[in-house]
Amino acid sequence: MRYDYLIVGAGLYGAVFAHELKEAGRSCMVIDKRDHIGGNIYTENISGINVHKYGAHIFHTSNKKIWDYICRFAEFNNYVNSPVAVYKDELYNLPFNMNTFHALWGVRTPKEAMDKLAEQIADSKTGEPKNLEEQALNLVGRDIYEKLIKGYTGKQWGRECKDLPAFIIKRLPVRFTYDNNYFNDRYQGIPIGGYTGIIEKLLDGIDIRLNCSYDDVRTDKADDHKEADTYDRVVYTGMIDEYFDHRLGRLEYRTLRFDERVLKDVDNYQGNAVVNYTEYEVPYTRVIEHKHFEYTDCKGTVITYEYPKEYEAGDEPYYPVNDDKNSRLYEEYLKLALNEKNVIFGGRLGQYRYYDMDKVIEAALDKAEEELKKA
Ligand code: UDP
Repeated sequence: MRYDYLIVGAGLYGAVFAHELKEAGRSCMVIDKRDHIGGNIYTENISGINVHKYGAHIFHTSNKKIWDYICRFAEFNNYVNSPVAVYKDELYNLPFNMNTFHALWGVRTPKEAMDKLAEQIADSKTGEPKNLEEQALNLVGRDIYEKLIKGYTGKQWGRECKDLPAFIIKRLPVRFTYDNNYFNDRYQGIPIGGYTGIIEKLLDGIDIRLNCSYDDVRTDKADDHKEADTYDRVVYTGMIDEYFDHRLGRLEYRTLRFDERVLKDVDNYQGNAVVNYTEYEVPYTRVIEHKHFEYTDCKGTVITYEYPKEYEAGDEPYYPVNDDKNSRLYEEYLKLALNEKNVIFGGRLGQYRYYDMDKVIEAALDKAEEELKKA
């Protein structure tokens, strides 16, 4: 077969791009090395519960265009993410809000909370924050940093907060209301029936080959590949350093080990979809109880413990480590990528970026539009 596009990776970026190009009359083949579509947003129904197999995904955006787009492929429920944090025997609401401040310091009014926070910040203020630790101390002061950020972040990234970029913590809002909604975005929810259905719809009518890696089909290497398929352009959503055979060195990623448990005799294990464990000594970062994402009223429950660890060859990479060293190396790979005239690098791994789902969709739509303008 001859295709206009070979799309490597059947995750959100690849599926949106393929869908747009197909709608415009271009032919696409999507390949994925896994035995299923969906990439890391893949969900699987286990005993009536849609389980987020590669970590919890909560859709949120402030971009109406993206919200309208995704709603064409699924109906979303009104789930609002309100994680609970456990530190030793204490329990706090996230994000940092009046409930958190009350539990920490006994304050009740926004004025009291602001005064207390200002006092905390003044005690630890550093000037222009150069790293995550300084950013956190400047934003929320010592108590919150020590109890709710330091241990969790150290586990999650395998690095000390002072060796991490400040921007990671910008994802944690501070609020002076009794509002436990984690995200500030206008639109939020979980697709009823899971995420896999979205990808199925996006890829409807498109040729898909599973259990197929890029090396199985790439035509730019003068080896003895036996594939008959040809394509004009490639959209590559795998790891950018892997594409170039790590020739400049390896980019670092964080991965997670998931310990998933089906509990047949427990209907409600933790009373919330997301519970974070913020002390360093507890080896997992969070426990997800999947049924609470969709308010599923069935017997039994499924929970997943998330154990972060450094990515090694053969693992699934989840998070790029956007520290200085890796960012510089990525810039070098980007120069190589710009010379690959017929290859588009996209998604979290192709662009080595800590992208949320809405940003992935936006980037894929922009790139698809750009492609279609060219021809
Ligand atoms: N974080 C933290 N304490 C928490 C939750 C998050 O310090 O209880 C920090 C941590 O550095 C983490 C970042 O905030 O990497 C972003 O967390 P979030 O859960 O929003 O990101 P996700 O892992 O879901 O992409």
